[in-house]
Amino acid sequence: MPDLVYYDKTERSFFRKTRSNAIVKLVREQYLRGDIPCMSEQCPSIPPCQRVLDINTNNPKHEGLLSAHADHYVIPDMSARDKTLGGIIMRYLEILEQEELTGIILSQTIITSLQQHDKLRTYRKLRQIINDTRRNSVVFYNEVFADTRVPRLAGETASERDWRALCRMANWYSHHLGKPIVLLSEVNSTLNNNNNDDDDNQGLVTVRTMKQYIDQYWGQHTLLQNLAQVLAEAVLEDDLERIRVTSSGKKSEPAVSGYTEYKPMEELEAGIKSSRYFSGTLRCRSGTRDTGYVNGGQKLEKDILIIGSENINRAVHGDMVVVELLSENNWTTTSSKIAYGGSTEDEYEETRLTRNINTTHPTGRVIGILNRNWRSYVATIQEDTPSNGLFHLAIPLDSVIPKIRLRHHDVKLIQNQRIVVRIDSWPTSSQYPNGHYVRSLGPIHQLDTEISAILVEHGISVSQASQGFSEASLKEMPEDTVATPWKPEPNEIARRKDLRSLTVFSIDPPNCQDIDDALSIRDLDDGRIELGVHIADVSYFVKENSLTDLEARSRGTTVYLADRRFDMLPSVLSEKVCSLRGDVDRYAVSVLWTLDSKTLQVLDTWFGRTLIRSSCEMEYEQAQQLLDGESVATNLSTSLSKKLKPSVVKLATVLRAMRRQRLAKGALELESSNEVKFKIGDNHSVTDINILFLLFLYTNLTILFQNFNESEAMIMANSYVGKRIYDGFKDAAILRRHPPPNAGQFEMLVKAAESKGFPVDFSSNRALAISLERIVKNSAGDPEIARLMKTMATVAMNEAGYISSGHYVVDEYFHYGLALEFYTHFTSPIRRYADIVAHRQLLMCVEDEVAILDRQKKGTSMTQDSKVNDICDHLNLKSRESKFAQRDSTELFQSLYVLQHTTNGNPLIESGVIAEIRSNGFYVFIPRLGLKGPVFLMDKHGQPAVPLSLQSGNSDHDEEYLSNCTIDVSIPTNISVQAATLPHPIQFNLFDHVRVSLKLRKSHAHRHMVYMTLIDLEHTKVEKSIPIMSKDILMKTVMESFNNDDKEEIEDIDDIETGREVGGEKIAMSKQEIETRRQLKKSTKQQGNMYDFLEQFRKMSIAACSYVDNTTTN
Ligand SMILES: [Zn+2]
Repeated sequence: MPDLVYYDKTERSFFRKTRSNAIVKLVREQYLRGDIPCMSEQCPSIPPCQRVLDINTNNPKHEGLLSAHADHYVIPDMSARDKTLGGIIMRYLEILEQEELTGIILSQTIITSLQQHDKLRTYRKLRQIINDTRRNSVVFYNEVFADTRVPRLAGETASERDWRALCRMANWYSHHLGKPIVLLSEVNSTLNNNNNDDDDNQGLVTVRTMKQYIDQYWGQHTLLQNLAQVLAEAVLEDDLERIRVTSSGKKSEPAVSGYTEYKPMEELEAGIKSSRYFSGTLRCRSGTRDTGYVNGGQKLEKDILIIGSENINRAVHGDMVVVELLSENNWTTTSSKIAYGGSTEDEYEETRLTRNINTTHPTGRVIGILNRNWRSYVATIQEDTPSNGLFHLAIPLDSVIPKIRLRHHDVKLIQNQRIVVRIDSWPTSSQYPNGHYVRSLGPIHQLDTEISAILVEHGISVSQASQGFSEASLKEMPEDTVATPWKPEPNEIARRKDLRSLTVFSIDPPNCQDIDDALSIRDLDDGRIELGVHIADVSYFVKENSLTDLEARSRGTTVYLADRRFDMLPSVLSEKVCSLRGDVDRYAVSVLWTLDSKTLQVLDTWFGRTLIRSSCEMEYEQAQQLLDGESVATNLSTSLSKKLKPSVVKLATVLRAMRRQRLAKGALELESSNEVKFKIGDNHSVTDINILFLLFLYTNLTILFQNFNESEAMIMANSYVGKRIYDGFKDAAILRRHPPPNAGQFEMLVKAAESKGFPVDFSSNRALAISLERIVKNSAGDPEIARLMKTMATVAMNEAGYISSGHYVVDEYFHYGLALEFYTHFTSPIRRYADIVAHRQLLMCVEDEVAILDRQKKGTSMTQDSKVNDICDHLNLKSRESKFAQRDSTELFQSLYVLQHTTNGNPLIESGVIAEIRSNGFYVFIPRLGLKGPVFLMDKHGQPAVPLSLQSGNSDHDEEYLSNCTIDVSIPTNISVQAATLPHPIQFNLFDHVRVSLKLRKSHAHRHMVYMTLIDLEHTKVEKSIPIMSKDILMKTVMESFNNDDKEEIEDIDDIETGREVGGEKIAMSKQEIETRRQLKKSTKQQGNMYDFLEQFRKMSIAACSYVDNTTTN
């Protein structure tokens, strides 16, 4: 009887070899249970066995459910013929990792076996599959389940028993569900029915090899077919290990010069323990994969450099390596060269590495690998590859990854394509790693291909491209249609603080769809003021561990690319039920402060769930008009304007004063705007999005209209919530930490500022803020200087990140940039998962009934330090990757822009500012395009290459060079060129204005790269040459472009499908889905059109700069 719970103790023992080769016997007690659920949606028991577990335990393992729609489920066996268990699992694994394969039931038998054999990496990967709710796969605890447990018989080997256990489990499933089960095994081919069952499995259980399985069920699926084929032939790292172990003594292939075998694990571990060796993650510098470094840790306090492919010794960027230091006379300095070719460098990493230039670094050599960190790489087959032959070289898009040698029977099929490849192994006998082809993303340099490449490179799951929330997850969502609009429930109305009579309003950019914050302010009777921040109550709809929750957690954040975005939440929440629209009732989580009206001191704070009805979705422009004294704002009724005006005016006064107070405490001005306010309305075309977003990125702005200080209220809310959840959960509060910088990080900034006569004091954030302010004031004639200095300051600082408070001591929580003791992210739960965690924690702190009930019913991991810490690590990674994906897509569009403007042979000449001096040239920042690119004064071989155009001022000469010149570099401030033909040396100083010609270095294997050649120096002082548009004109231009574009769009919409077949039913696509498709279509069709808009918008991006601060560290 499956629903009868009983416990029966049993013992399970196994032997394990320790590192010192001793054999120990491990005994584990196990309790047999009768309530292990099948985890299938199709469960025929009444109630379903999953439900029984929910009732019996407070903390069910809700790990996704096997879909009822699947026509079979798969149970993998992972045993191998020889003892090392290795290769076959790895071969399997990659196929199992393919998203198409769903309905995998992972047995406890296999998990235990992997743990015993130290296959933790394999185990982790399998866990990832299970944890990915989109895969509809589960773990089944067959070893502790009374119905499936199989004791070992006398004379039976462990692997024989394991196979019998799997067969029993397969039989149980087929009986329980009446569904076909496929047992995947490379070793066993027949079902073992000696389980003393009354067994007749009605032919529902079949045993297949992976190859047979793929042939039978996935015959039409070329990707899986190919993979099965390719993987059967691949030589994997585990195979190499096995060959090495079993054939020691036998002569293997000769090693490529410089490569040596890794030292045995025992030796490596002992060496690390005794500090003879160092371990860490290998990072390679962009464009120069022959130079890597590993953090030397506390002992060295410097990075260890690893120079040359011999010393890198087959390690790949991202691998966890063990390094041995070379003798000190081999130590060297880091290069300050700009790399020739390759993608943009990670500014933080780059700064870390180059700020100590000219000092000698410990230099070392890789002698072992603790953990390979290989992933899927986007690559392109080397251009000159002959089409005969079986092996080919693929060049990864990411220039820190070595070329990969792969086997393909017909290379013509994948030439000129971006392909996904994986590395299998790297033997000493091979100059390059061996890998295999996985799939193609499409022809190179096509927009959709390149966007897919960006997604793969940054680990953004491709299924997100369809905004793919599973149907099961959408079932969890509330309904909100025109026919039945969402309404608050009576019991929620009863228990929430009802603020519907309060004047609440939101202030956002035009056409904002996902409004996650709103504000209120009013005078209280006793002369005090009540200030309110109201945030969308997302956590009410997204319950912890629900499918939507797990999906949102895995996404971590909404990802904005230049021309499209990938939402974290389904649109029914982000744009409808959670969006704080005007004139509708909405659930909110509010913070209400009672302030002293004179001192603005906070006298009291209230947090909790509320019900609000926003009076108005105001746009910045409207708020500004009311603030500027107009009695009626554009498009607002007289009565509404009259109602809102006092609130808006009061709010602005209060927030301005509060901001002043915070700045006085030392908050950095470059941090003052901390909310990313970029939002896309659903009536916008891709064109608008491109431009708005380019505008957004070009200027690094986070708020377009900074002079309305609405963000101050959000900073305040985040800070108070941070303190409150810390008070409630000292050990597990999710906080946002911005560590203070150390002196070394400011070396470049200080030198740069000194070269312009500005002192920089960074002893405290307040001192730094004052220094920067002084620079802004004194360089008013040349605003680019102040702007670049702020950028340098931002880059020099540490990145802010999420932490669990239990992992740090209290005085490390401080947010340096904002000058706040406690900070968290609370105000944008629609597009950041961290905010949802903060909401849950806050609501538990203030004992919200529903939050407490949720916790009792389902349990919570939101209060456990280790769990919160894991979430933080994940979210930090996701937000970093999403930032990089953003940057890459912007660069892609910038390069397309340059391509568009140079194809007719005319040069694209721009004014720019020297932003960074390097030993072989410098970086120039072009404010008009928000683009930073290299100008080389030396060629790859170290020979001077100074364009003749500098002398002639004629751009036609920018590819001819001055003869017989010498170059002197003084980093970071100056580089000068001397030549016999020049009357005096040409000096290039940091922040000098130059004119450059933008060019595109076309590339086959990489994205086209924008580079620049010099035309001349602008010696005359450049005054504020850029006319700043008034906001009125700016807004008008934006709106006009939208309108124009909408008209063209209409013709397009007809040929877009508006429905899709799912399970025989035609399901209408959501508005958003149609919009996404339309955008995709447009983006490929109408690029020309886009550039016209770009032209209009470049002016505005400049105008916007004046409102904007640089805030990558909030
Ligand atoms: Zn069941």
